[in-house]
Amino acid sequence: MAWVITRACSDCVDVSCVLVCPVDCIYELVVPDPKYRNQLFIAPDECIDCALCAPECPWEAIYHDQSMPDVFLEDVAINRQVFHDHPKRDFTTVPLPQTALPTREEVEANLRKWGFERS
Ligand code: SF4
Repeated sequence: MAWVITRACSDCVDVSCVLVCPVDCIYELVVPDPKYRNQLFIAPDECIDCALCAPECPWEAIYHDQSMPDVFLEDVAINRQVFHDHPKRDFTTVPLPQTALPTREEVEANLRKWGFERS
């Protein structure tokens, strides 16, 4: 079991999750690959399921693979596949500069953009 960074991270790429991860298993792909969105990824085989990252994400983009919203289900496989497609040297765990925190309206608008509606 692992936590997963969903497409709701795309182009937001806030690094709050990276800063709290105790095992440095949250990565940014640093080589161009049009197959993957501009977002962070969690290496599923390295995640220790501590759950520290999800509440830190200001974009609410991180979910557990066992309770993934339907609209983000594809991201479970994507977080795994990116580490099969690329060697570790193609990634970094060094945090990018911290971005400005989004407003509540921006978070909701971003989630709706990906089809996520709270029940
Ligand atoms: Fe890192 Fe814990 Fe989040 Fe897994 S659950 S990515 S170990 S902070």
